[in-house]
Amino acid sequence: MSLNEIDIHAALKKYFGFSQFKGLQEGVVKNILEGRNTFVIMPTGGGKSLCYQLPALMQEGTAIVVSPLIALMKNQVDAMRGVSAEMGIAHVLNSSLNKTEIKQVKKDITDGTTKLLYVAPESLTKDENVEFLRSVKISFVAVDEAHCISEWGHDFRPEYRNLKAIVARLGEDIPMIGLTATATPKVQEDIIKNLGITDATVFKASFNRPNLFYEVRTKTDNVDADIIRFIKQNEGKSGIVYCLSRKKVEELAQVLQVNGISAVPYHAGFDAKTRSKYQDMFLMEDVNVVVATIAFGMGIDKPDVRYVIHHDIPKSIESYYQETGRAGRDGGEGHCLAFYSYKDIEKLEKFMSGKPVAEQEIGNALLQEVVAYAETSMSRRKFMLHYFGEEFDEINGDGADMDDNTRNPKEKVEAKDDALK
Ligand code: ADP
Ligand code: MG
Repeated sequence: MSLNEIDIHAALKKYFGFSQFKGLQEGVVKNILEGRNTFVIMPTGGGKSLCYQLPALMQEGTAIVVSPLIALMKNQVDAMRGVSAEMGIAHVLNSSLNKTEIKQVKKDITDGTTKLLYVAPESLTKDENVEFLRSVKISFVAVDEAHCISEWGHDFRPEYRNLKAIVARLGEDIPMIGLTATATPKVQEDIIKNLGITDATVFKASFNRPNLFYEVRTKTDNVDADIIRFIKQNEGKSGIVYCLSRKKVEELAQVLQVNGISAVPYHAGFDAKTRSKYQDMFLMEDVNVVVATIAFGMGIDKPDVRYVIHHDIPKSIESYYQETGRAGRDGGEGHCLAFYSYKDIEKLEKFMSGKPVAEQEIGNALLQEVVAYAETSMSRRKFMLHYFGEEFDEINGDGADMDDNTRNPKEKVEAKDDALK
């Protein structure tokens, strides 16, 4: 090991208590320490935060971390304060701070105490912040959840689009790090172009989840009964059932309860107290099942979710991957079952018809991929990974027989599949 490697491992142990890096982390950390532009694509839970936190802690100056959600930033700041005795090691800079707090943040940065400064893109456009940040040493700028840059992503935020110009105002040649769990090539291109990091070293982890079994069933009028049967066959296990509408969430949760299944509903229409009550009931295993809209799941880490059922097909493969990804986090079994009817696709199309044309076009293109996934007779894992720009060997690959099509091949191969192959 080079001195550098010894240092990195020692720092990993010192700050995080880990003796090993996960996946591609070590390479990323080294690349950032060498001052290079870096692009990191890893699935959720892959350990992206450490990729910039560790080099930030090891380097001189302050790293700026751009993040879309206050809650995410606060979590990370708390976590960083846990690894160091120094309160000022990490700060959030946003409009909620009062004058005294801002003064403290600036003092800690100037002193060299603050290694990580979390900001929303808006905060970086404020003249007073720009002026201050220009005057201090910035180690690098990390853009977390970088897919927010792209209209092809699932969480487009226009204020992410000017980051390149904004960072250029802070100083010359500040290395930029983009990080995302969005694996689609379109989104990646957008990120690289937008951040102006065409020279970045790209680290892309595999998105294969070999322990997840993928299945699509035709959705009939008896879908609720089908779901009940599935849940009863999986008695005692934890599962999530996703529905498109709040109304359906409440209805289905009730139907399940009436059928003797312990279930709670979850959607953004409940107040915060009710939401956290239901969420806790699921996490603490007072109930087995949560019936939810997509509002449920962000940042939820229940390792032993054994199945994820989609009562309604999602609006993109990307969303489907994220939502099913909540199953089998512990590496154990995870059954991903989607109910599909073309009527639901038409419903989703209708939802979009009020939106701007460009948005509709993107939405429809994403939806067509969902149709292709649902109707394909090829390995669903291969289909999904191909969508993410990843080759998958459907004979010998990890998890090769873990889908309905591979286990029970259909006779007819549709033209679409040939085109894909
Ligand atoms: P992501 O942002 O990619 O979704 P996170 O940065 O939130 O992932 O990390 C996910 C989890 O992995 C966290 O609980 C973190 O503590 C853990 N983790 C990260 N790196 C390591 C490591 N080298 N060894 C063990 N656990 C790790
Ligand atoms: Mg993250």
